[in-house]
Amino acid sequence: MYWHKELETIDRLRLKDLQVERLRNIVARVHASVPFYRERLLQCSVTPESINSVEDIYRLPFTTKEDILANFPFGLLAVPREEIVRVHTSSGTTGKPKAVFFTKSDLDGSAELIARCLTMTGMGKNDVLQNMMTYGLFTGALVMHYGAEKVGILVVPAGPGNTDRQLTLMKDFGTTAIHITPSYALYIGSVLQKNNIDPRKEFSLKRAYMGAEPYSEETRKKIEEIYGIDVYNSYGLSEMNGPGVAFECEEKNGMHLWEDNFLMEIIDPNTGEPLPDGKEGELVLTSLCREGMPIIRYRTRDLTAIVPEPCACGRTHRKITRILGRTDDMFIVKGVNIFPQQIENILMGIRGVAQNYRIVLESLDQMTVEVEITGDLFDGNVTRLVKLQAEITDRLKNEILVKPKVVLHEPGVLPVSEGKSKRVIDNRTL
Ligand code: AMP
Ligand code: ZN
Repeated sequence: MYWHKELETIDRLRLKDLQVERLRNIVARVHASVPFYRERLLQCSVTPESINSVEDIYRLPFTTKEDILANFPFGLLAVPREEIVRVHTSSGTTGKPKAVFFTKSDLDGSAELIARCLTMTGMGKNDVLQNMMTYGLFTGALVMHYGAEKVGILVVPAGPGNTDRQLTLMKDFGTTAIHITPSYALYIGSVLQKNNIDPRKEFSLKRAYMGAEPYSEETRKKIEEIYGIDVYNSYGLSEMNGPGVAFECEEKNGMHLWEDNFLMEIIDPNTGEPLPDGKEGELVLTSLCREGMPIIRYRTRDLTAIVPEPCACGRTHRKITRILGRTDDMFIVKGVNIFPQQIENILMGIRGVAQNYRIVLESLDQMTVEVEITGDLFDGNVTRLVKLQAEITDRLKNEILVKPKVVLHEPGVLPVSEGKSKRVIDNRTL
């Protein structure tokens, strides 16, 4: 099902024409109204009139997180302040939050993209979406909320937390889909298992939309199995509206990035050089339609690759792979570069491993992986525990080339997060 078939299946040559036209307009607008960009464009000798092809993007300067912070709060507005009707901030997982502003038309545009995403996965007026993202300054909940309403979906604005109440709401209103972080979905999964609740019998759930933080394919499978649903990956960031930037279709193998709204590039994070489709690197995005605060060549720090093959669903917007990590997530133990995703991927594929884990960095050459395992394993049979601990240690060592210390816990011991989770605890004193 399509929300806007013509745009979703647009011929790629026409798409390129549209992108050039929009890029030229955006450059003209920031050139005229944002002193920060006018100066940067001058330094690169770029005028709006000189933008004639999508490849001209390479002549434009990058925008970094630091640039947004340096212009806090209103420095990057491309419209008079009176045109702005909403502010959101990034969730600040990596420091001080960044403020992002929306005009009425930006809000409508973000809801349109969510409408495409939800319709693409089969949602319609008969559905009930329980939105368990945090309502407030975080874009996650509100942007999804208005997009779902645009489709005509009944939205239950539950927000995160209070798991008992979430389960009651699901039952009372016949929730068919949830919007949730992977860590909270895992936590609710553990509550269901502990209380012997079979979601297939108790609820009408069919789908979950999961994003806001990186998670592995194994985690998706685990959640699909526990709930008996389809889990769709949803990617976005405040600087580009929030959710609705890239989203999985029913093929569930990569997220279509709406290229009529965002120009995407994958670059080598160290050199800034563009990389070809299929190569893994840092995602760089240019907002082509945002009015209030357009951003050019934003260094997202998210690592992904463009999927080179066309999608069987018929949409022509290229897909990106699951986010493999963030350039600033990486840590180094014994000189080896490690991403938390690699560890999660291994853990979630091991039988006996439950839903929660964390990584504690002790020193430059020592890390501990604390893992919750399923309750039935704590039955006094120590041999089984020792075997599992050895299996986890070996499999992690094969993946990350460093032997971690592995500590097993009973379910419910490690801290749970309702919003974005903190998986890495850094105790190193450098
Ligand atoms: P925020 O601006 O606070 O919404 O945070 C945006 C960041 O959350 C992105 O830059 C990603 O690092 C992360 N993120 C959002 N969605 C996903 C997803 N589906 N998979 C992995 N990371 C994600
Ligand atoms: Zn598709």
